[in-house]
Amino acid sequence: MSLENIAVGLGVDMHRFQEGGKLVLGGVEIPFDKSLKAHSDGDVLLHAILDSVLSAADEPDLGTLFPDSDEANRGRSSVDMAHEVARRLNVVGARILSLDAVVICQEPRIAPLRGELRESIAAMFDIPVSRVNVKGKTAEGMGAMGRGEGIECRTIALVERAESL
Ligand SMILES: [Zn+2]
Repeated sequence: MSLENIAVGLGVDMHRFQEGGKLVLGGVEIPFDKSLKAHSDGDVLLHAILDSVLSAADEPDLGTLFPDSDEANRGRSSVDMAHEVARRLNVVGARILSLDAVVICQEPRIAPLRGELRESIAAMFDIPVSRVNVKGKTAEGMGAMGRGEGIECRTIALVERAESL
């Protein structure tokens, strides 16, 4: 493996809460009284991860691959999008080396969910759990996340590409 072929990618996503519905983070259904409003299933963690991976692999971003304007993407499972992204990576010979994610919200608490989220994401991309990290942060009451209006995720991906580009 040559360091010349390693690239990082940054992903950021945020969604607003709505009453009721299913809250899904990293492909895991979380017991909570609100869900995230979105054209798809609103899995803010997976959306940020997929954008960081696509960016590192020099592939089109999530919004380009799965546009809001396409009815086929309404309510679409983000796990399904993750499988499509994994397939694209295989085609171009790119491989995820590690993922790190920060979930910013007042609620729900992320710490008790960490293990489950890491396992779910690692399984989705067929990489070791030790190569996936997820941590929660509150916004200390500042801004929209601090007022508990939604969830924001920031992620970084390290990807090995097939050849130096
Ligand atoms: Zn999103």
